[in-house]
Amino acid sequence: MALIVQKYGGTSVGSIERIHRVADQVSRTLREGYQTVVVLSAMSGETDRLIKLAQQATPTPDEREMDVLLSTGERVTIALLAMELRGRGINARSYTGRQVGIMTDSAHTNARIARVTADRIREALEEGIVPVVAGFQGINEQSDVTTLGRGGSDLSAVALAAALKADRCIIYTDVDGVYTADPNIVPTATRIEKISYEEMLEMASLGAKVLQARSVEFAAKFKVPVEVNSSFKEGKGTLVTKEDTDMEAAAVAGVTGDRNQAKITIVGVPDKPGVAARIFGTVAEAHINVDMIIQNISQTAATDLSFTVHKADLKKAVPIIQAVAKDIEAKSVAVTEAIAKVSLIGVGMRSHSGVAAKMFEVLAREGINIMMISTSEIKISCVIDEKYLELAMRSLHSAVGLDQIQS
Ligand code: ADP
Ligand code: ASP
Ligand code: MG
Repeated sequence: MALIVQKYGGTSVGSIERIHRVADQVSRTLREGYQTVVVLSAMSGETDRLIKLAQQATPTPDEREMDVLLSTGERVTIALLAMELRGRGINARSYTGRQVGIMTDSAHTNARIARVTADRIREALEEGIVPVVAGFQGINEQSDVTTLGRGGSDLSAVALAAALKADRCIIYTDVDGVYTADPNIVPTATRIEKISYEEMLEMASLGAKVLQARSVEFAAKFKVPVEVNSSFKEGKGTLVTKEDTDMEAAAVAGVTGDRNQAKITIVGVPDKPGVAARIFGTVAEAHINVDMIIQNISQTAATDLSFTVHKADLKKAVPIIQAVAKDIEAKSVAVTEAIAKVSLIGVGMRSHSGVAAKMFEVLAREGINIMMISTSEIKISCVIDEKYLELAMRSLHSAVGLDQIQS
């Protein structure tokens, strides 16, 4: 019997009415003869609400306690769905991350999965039970609860699908697939039928929050076929799978925008060997990820060094950077949060040239200044003023020929 892991995101379980609809869909899948494992998010807005509560308690909440708090959202939805299914005569049972054996490291609020035992899920399936699993949570070596980073229920679903060797992992959400750009920002975006893991990973890492980037990385590593589909209406969705030749036909597969970065500039950095190693070594020790870096060529003995970090890391990063800046005798540190990153992604860029030139031309035409640029084989990103992000996304989407053909 084929096994399907179905994950329902926050909007899909955002109210009791929505949970009824999920129960309808689970019943239908069971009637069609599939073994089904369900993974749920918290109700939409719940995780944000809990984060705000924590910040009201104290400005920098302890991360272990944060996970105790954040993991409560998913307990609510799994219990409600399991009750509802049982009320309909379906033998469903809820399971927390601990009960499922989602074993992680101890990086609270952003833990990485080390292994998934899933013994209780296998037993449940053998007994004909429908497991309803809390997404986003696991436990560390000390059995303390951990969470897997924002959007982490996608990762829970993919990791369970890999552990159970499921035939498919379906991510049900509020859009009917992965689009060429966020359809809520670019109305002319179109649904992509099939996308490679590699492109999807870039899109997710560069701001397309329809899938959590780490879940895509996991899916690629364990070759889990992932489908993204709507829990609101029936339709085709998007298949995330290994690359095939026709995926290279277009140069650009998608456009993304990311408002989650902040820019830090260290002004007047002495231009001598070892300084960059010193700065970024200290940042790395604090487990802060740096994304883009630019260093101006110095005409004098000092230079300016700018880099971006995740906004969530800013509070932690600034005092650390200020201390290093003082140590290396730099002049000052400037921070700006009003930036955004716009990116073009496509495996076709390997064989099509001129995409970067086109991107710069479009941004210039719109009068948008580029602050930073970074490229890889299959993407080009520019950091711009945040207020132009939506304009940049729409103009680029159209200029690279992704707009829906109006009939
Ligand atoms: P869930 O709560 O189901 O996990 P998310 O809010 O995390 O849902 O992800 C779905 C949202 O992702 C959509 O509502 C859409 O606005 C956004 N999104 C961003 N980029 C894309 C894209 N390229 N294709 C589809 N959706 C996208
Ligand atoms: N509830 C968590 C979040 O909002 C996990 C998820 O929804 O995937 O980030
Ligand atoms: Mg999500």
